[in-house]
Amino acid sequence: MSSAVFCADIGGSFIKFGVSRASGEVEECGKVPTPVSSWDDFVAAMHNFITQFGGDLPASAPLAISTAGLVSPQTGELLATNIPAFTGRSLAKDLSAALNRPVTAANDADCFALAEAHAGNAQNHAVVVAIILGTGVGGGVVINGHLVRGHGGVTGEWGHGAITRTDVLIDGETYAVPRLKCGCGQTGCLDMLGAARGLERLHKHFHQQDKTSLEIVNGWQAGDAACGLTVNAWLQIVSEPLALLVNILGPSRIVAGGGLASATALIAALDQAVRKGVLHTYAGPLLVPGKFLTTGGLVGASVMGRIEG
Ligand SMILES: [Zn+2]
Repeated sequence: MSSAVFCADIGGSFIKFGVSRASGEVEECGKVPTPVSSWDDFVAAMHNFITQFGGDLPASAPLAISTAGLVSPQTGELLATNIPAFTGRSLAKDLSAALNRPVTAANDADCFALAEAHAGNAQNHAVVVAIILGTGVGGGVVINGHLVRGHGGVTGEWGHGAITRTDVLIDGETYAVPRLKCGCGQTGCLDMLGAARGLERLHKHFHQQDKTSLEIVNGWQAGDAACGLTVNAWLQIVSEPLALLVNILGPSRIVAGGGLASATALIAALDQAVRKGVLHTYAGPLLVPGKFLTTGGLVGASVMGRIEG
């Protein structure tokens, strides 16, 4: 187990760097634009970061990476459609050879789950599910402190599957719900309706009105009837697949990340809706906002680097 870990959080636009000298703590070191189309430029950026900030760290200190896209535990291959430089690469293996140190990598939702399970709002819970309610829906699963790395790197991806209901019942009235074609190729995925863009699509569907997710949530809290209908429909659409996930995995804590997790009233309402649909009774909240809403990638990578690096 390493005492110090280099961490990087790779997004489609920026790479954020950090150094972790104690478990669950990361000192942020800055960010650079992601060299999306050149592997050599990407390796150079990682090399520069390690040279610049790693003077006092052991020469063998591992590098742990949180990244957009899916990391296959079988092949190490990264599927990140918005970063062509990674196409066909085994991110951890190739980077380890280039930088001459251990490198470990996982999806950003998985890193968020690790961060929350080890140092955040899901500490001391054996089965932890993290859900991302960002532009789309994602997730990760940590059991007994270990990330569940499923086949092809797909675990906790509850946003994909033709599962959204076709109507909702609100105050005795039935409203049709659209089933939309998803980027994954299926029709009716929760991903299309379940996070920020989904909330906006629902609002447009019900009211023919363009509003941002923040405006819709604020309107709901202020008592606006149209926004209230949209949010009530959203709660029904999202809570049912989430309750199913709870019944399958039995988490004692779900942490929410992504932009909508900052809307604490919305997360509290979703928690109540989910708990109505599960088999087991929970004395307190099951779903809570995460602690590491902006730093989950780096903190989770540091946890992974200590366990696997
Ligand atoms: Zn899908």
